[in-house]
Amino acid sequence: MARYTDALCRICRRENDKLFLKGDRCYTDKCGIERRKYAPGVHGQRRKKLSDYGLQLREKQKVKQIYSVLERQFKKYFYMAERMKGVTGSNLLQLLERRLDNVVYRLGFASNKRQARQLVTHRHFTVNGRRVSIPSYLVSVGDIVSPGEASDKLIVIQDSIAKAEHRGFPSWLEMDVNNLKGKILHFPSREEIALPVLEQLIVELYSK
Ligand code: SF4
Repeated sequence: MARYTDALCRICRRENDKLFLKGDRCYTDKCGIERRKYAPGVHGQRRKKLSDYGLQLREKQKVKQIYSVLERQFKKYFYMAERMKGVTGSNLLQLLERRLDNVVYRLGFASNKRQARQLVTHRHFTVNGRRVSIPSYLVSVGDIVSPGEASDKLIVIQDSIAKAEHRGFPSWLEMDVNNLKGKILHFPSREEIALPVLEQLIVELYSK
């Protein structure tokens, strides 16, 4: 799979928005976008006015980066969202939120989404007691997500949980911190997905 290997803060600076890709550092004054509020590159300080197409494209790129999803898979989510009942843009975000790597992050088992993805691919997590190593696995209502035997003692998981407790958990998830078990209460509504995203622009882009 193609991987982005450059500095993550460049992505936030390109999108001119905090995307919280690095975990703890994002909440400190070392945050890249706080220190350099302009786009990366030699011409970064001269931000151009974007066309309608440019705005739509940037919004799509932003969401892809937030969830670390490549174009082909992203399109697949979009077509799934279109076939679902309700608003396509909200459905799209809901599908992305249901990815196992995202749920692991939201439950506080990892301090950022990339770390969550790695923990999942390294078979550290179970869904309803069965090991799942596919980051794109879509969780369902009532599913229980927890670290597998021995994985629950990993320092990286213990550290992340301790920090996540302070930040709190999304209302569509229930976290039992003592037993390290997270439950999917319901699928998130748009209001429960706190992302700085105008998903309607993505719908417009793909509807051309
Ligand atoms: Fe983005 Fe700031 Fe986190 Fe870097 S530290 S990834 S700029 S939010």
